[in-house]
Amino acid sequence: MNIGIVGLGLIGGSLGLDLRSRGHTVWGVSRSAQTCQRAIDRGAVDDAGVSLTLMQTADVVFICTPLAAMQATVVALIPHLAPTTVLTDVGSVKGWVVETIAPLWPNFVGGHPMAGTAESGIEAAQHDLFVGAAYVLTPTPTTPVAAVQQVEALARSLQTRIYHCQPDEHDRAVAWISHLPVMTSASLIAACISEPDETVLNLAQALASSGFRDTSRVGGGNPELGVMMAQYNQTALVRSLHTYRNALDQLIRQVEQANWNEIEHCLKQTQQARQGFVVKDGT
Ligand code: NAP
Repeated sequence: MNIGIVGLGLIGGSLGLDLRSRGHTVWGVSRSAQTCQRAIDRGAVDDAGVSLTLMQTADVVFICTPLAAMQATVVALIPHLAPTTVLTDVGSVKGWVVETIAPLWPNFVGGHPMAGTAESGIEAAQHDLFVGAAYVLTPTPTTPVAAVQQVEALARSLQTRIYHCQPDEHDRAVAWISHLPVMTSASLIAACISEPDETVLNLAQALASSGFRDTSRVGGGNPELGVMMAQYNQTALVRSLHTYRNALDQLIRQVEQANWNEIEHCLKQTQQARQGFVVKDGT
């Protein structure tokens, strides 16, 4: 199959590496000629360039740019596509993407491969990034079934776990498990560094170990990604943040009132509930 990838970074480059190794021919487009050359050198694409004309023979095109560039990219891409071309994206938010792109191209299937690293750009692309990861597809009632099947078959060939849901269900779910954790982890770091006593702050920094490393990891990541989550998934994120604040307020009350039994009850519940989220990969 002829595959097109627009945006040759971590996700686009990794998709290219894997899809080529499955026997597909991969054409890439990115903003900078240097990125295109690196993608060719790294074996992520058969050929690449800065012009969207390269997409004209593609059967399926993956839009792998940052969210902010997707709409303009698709508008510029459409004149170069055959009417049968299936368009899909990899954006981390689906409501906004599907609302914006689906009206532009009937053969569009919203998608989100849920794998990544802390790195970005073509140098960060890697083989087998998606193995074992969830790959969410968000077709609407008007999305052609054949287009969904085509994207699903490609995603499945990457050894992913396929899920279908509504775009807003996806956004509410990722608000809980991805976007809210970034914000709460960032708030944790912000709260710690507001310690006014320099001696205590220095001591806390010196004593911080694996527990703090785990809980602060996602809050100490790429600021651009955090802003993107807030901007494009605003409604679901605000809803999750309010619920989180309620849980925190309740915990504050319990500690202030020395209500140790209630705290124990709460922590027993969360100890058990955590398994529902992380037991799949054993972490
Ligand atoms: P990335 O590593 O920064 O790659 C994006 C690439 O797109 C850049 O390398 C850039 O390459 C290119 N680009 C930027 N603007 C462009 C434009 N207007 N036209 C063509 N190419 C353009 O980012 P990423 O992590 O792969 O994220 C890409 C998409 O995947 C995002 O929509 C994100 O929501 C989604 N996603 C990310 C993750 C994650 O963990 N990172 C996970 C799942 C999904 P140039 O050097 O050519 O400018």
